[in-house]
Amino acid sequence: MDCSLSKILIVDDYESNQLALANVLQPINNIELHFASSGNEALKVLINNSFSLILLDVNMPNMDGYEVAELISNTQAHRHTPIIMVTAHETGSENILKAYDCGAIDYITKPIEVPILLNKVKQFIRIDQLQAKTDYLSSERELILEAAGQGVIKLSAAGEIQFANSKCLQLFGLSREQVLDKHLNECFKISLCDDADSFDLFAEIKSNVSKTPIYQVQEVTLATYKKDPLLMELTCTSVHQHGEIVFIIVFQDITKRVVLENKLTRLANYDQLTELANRSYFNEHIERAIFRSQRIHSTVTLLMLDLDQFKLVNDTLGHDVGDALLRDVATRISTTLRINDIAARFGGDEFAVLLEDCTSIIDADLVAEKLVKLIAQPFIIQGNEVFIETSIGIACSENGEANQTTLSKWADIALYEAKSAGRNCYQRFVQAMSDEREKKAYIQSQLRHIIDNQALAIHYQPQYSVKEQKIIGFEALARWPNKGYGTQLISPAEFIPIAEQSYLIHDLGLQVLRSSCLLLSSWRLDKLTQHLTLSVNLSAKQLNAPDFLDKLKAILSNYQFPMNKLILEITETAILNRTASVISSLDAIKAMGVGLALDDFGTGYSSLNYLQNLPFDVIKIDQCFIQSIGMCRKNNVVIKAVVDIATAYNMDVVAEGVENAEQLQGAVELGCDKIQGFYFSKPIEESAINALLLQDLTGCVVYEEQKHKVYAHM
Ligand code: C2E
Ligand code: MG
Ligand code: MG
Repeated sequence: MDCSLSKILIVDDYESNQLALANVLQPINNIELHFASSGNEALKVLINNSFSLILLDVNMPNMDGYEVAELISNTQAHRHTPIIMVTAHETGSENILKAYDCGAIDYITKPIEVPILLNKVKQFIRIDQLQAKTDYLSSERELILEAAGQGVIKLSAAGEIQFANSKCLQLFGLSREQVLDKHLNECFKISLCDDADSFDLFAEIKSNVSKTPIYQVQEVTLATYKKDPLLMELTCTSVHQHGEIVFIIVFQDITKRVVLENKLTRLANYDQLTELANRSYFNEHIERAIFRSQRIHSTVTLLMLDLDQFKLVNDTLGHDVGDALLRDVATRISTTLRINDIAARFGGDEFAVLLEDCTSIIDADLVAEKLVKLIAQPFIIQGNEVFIETSIGIACSENGEANQTTLSKWADIALYEAKSAGRNCYQRFVQAMSDEREKKAYIQSQLRHIIDNQALAIHYQPQYSVKEQKIIGFEALARWPNKGYGTQLISPAEFIPIAEQSYLIHDLGLQVLRSSCLLLSSWRLDKLTQHLTLSVNLSAKQLNAPDFLDKLKAILSNYQFPMNKLILEITETAILNRTASVISSLDAIKAMGVGLALDDFGTGYSSLNYLQNLPFDVIKIDQCFIQSIGMCRKNNVVIKAVVDIATAYNMDVVAEGVENAEQLQGAVELGCDKIQGFYFSKPIEESAINALLLQDLTGCVVYEEQKHKVYAHM
């Protein structure tokens, strides 16, 4: 903006007077003089120009200076333009007052006193320039406020709206007249609030602004009588202006932002496929529910669901069907629940349900049972029936006893148990399950160290021949080397299956095999031991490993003993499927001259006929048959049949688990010659073997006594 050039209009009907005035003003810099010879001409010039000052002659024909001054000062555009009246008349106070009345701001008489005129003109120009600058600044401010993206209003100390920018008017659909000088509460109402009419928004702002320099109302629903409610964020502040406090309120329309935030919240908290809560949001719920239950002494119940064999649906029917099924399962779960319960999908085929205020454990069982049954009903997807089942683990926390992590862990453990129990069922968590889990974890981690440190212990259980009346061999049995888990012993029945779940079983098996081979080679040249066989258990996993035969060969090549003294025991269940590779492995072992025993026979319910096709030398009748001798006639028949078939195929039979004289007698009567069991001896340490053998030679008391009884029967 150029404020430096000031335009002055000289109005006089005498050209000589115009020139005289121009002459007088000549020393003033940066002025531009315009001339008019009459009132009419002056008014015409004013149509297209604005001036910093008008020097107006009083005496002019047609329209005198007073009339012209009055007309000019009444126009909108020039009402602030300073007018100085110039006359040759005597300066009476009457004329001066008349000039002021007509809008002039000063009066000067002819003959002109040059210094006075010059000084006055300079002062008015200065004032005009200052005014122009102020106008410019305030129009700039206005422009900025108008252009602002936020609504801005200024309130008086009493709450009347003194200013509202265009954005504010546009936001609320109001005109400036509708808001200016109105009270804030009259124009804006907080809606969706029961007492909207009585709510004093201005008082609220006023009291908060007095406490904090900038008071923000994060989310408020505001409405005018013109527009639907809008979600607004208000920033309120107070400033001092002309000795009084005024309030500035900035309105920000946050409707879009809130919609977006809500969308983001949904994305962050809900599973997109099923619209159920997701894991993190659900866990927050659990935490809150547990916290509440602590206060009000109630129970929180967590159900963990996992669909059984869902992968099969995905693999066979495709992912679209899989997704549709998950959605339908979610719907079934949701419809089963009460209003306060919440369901979630944790991803994949895992779901969870939180039951609050479940008055009894039975309630939770009923919900679980209902869910199991409901989900087992066929689903119709793309016109086809699809079947799926679910397993559920239930865990309860009473009075906030468990936190979210513990409760989830419990429910997971219970779910695992439900799966192990055969699926399509539910299991409620009990502490023993957790103890079991912890023990399992302990075994897993310790077993690694034991095997790495070659620290596995091996005990040997003798096998007796009733006919030969002596020990004819031993079975090597792996033993946990140290105290165990707390005070509990860890039996092979526990750690072998755990080893079988990982590659540890291979290392474990090879360690037992190496030790056994070493023992066999030490027996080779001793008369006391050279006739003995040594049986080593082989896991199905070992047998199925592609490199097992090579490893076996490599170990055997390191030791010297007759190969047929080593017998590898394979359980009946391990060869149930009789795959081609298992059979060829068995044949290969046989070809090496190593003996083969079929362990735990009778537990796999396999047909006796297939024995003839398998290269076994020994059949070990499982201890459950032996221990039922005398109690179950049917089992006696089975034992007899096994002995007959074994004899027919030239195989030996070992009766496992003989614990007392009756069982021994029964086994012998049914034709079993070889006996293994606690009745003769428990598995013993290697260092005790020789003593047992010597005792056996000289005549074991128990054995001697029994021998007589047994042989008396034969
Ligand atoms: P198994 O091969 O059938 O071994 C016989 C099991 O019966 C042994 O249990 C033995 O202590 C037990 N037993 C022997 N006589 C009696 C008796 O009169 N009464 C009773 N109640 N039990 C008797 P153990 O040592 O606890 O082994 C359990 C199973 O663990 C073994 O059954 C075998 O399947 C497996 N196992 C043991 N060591 C090894 C190993 O080195 N490798 C593999 N793969 N499995 C092994
Ligand atoms: Mg065995
Ligand atoms: Mg056995």
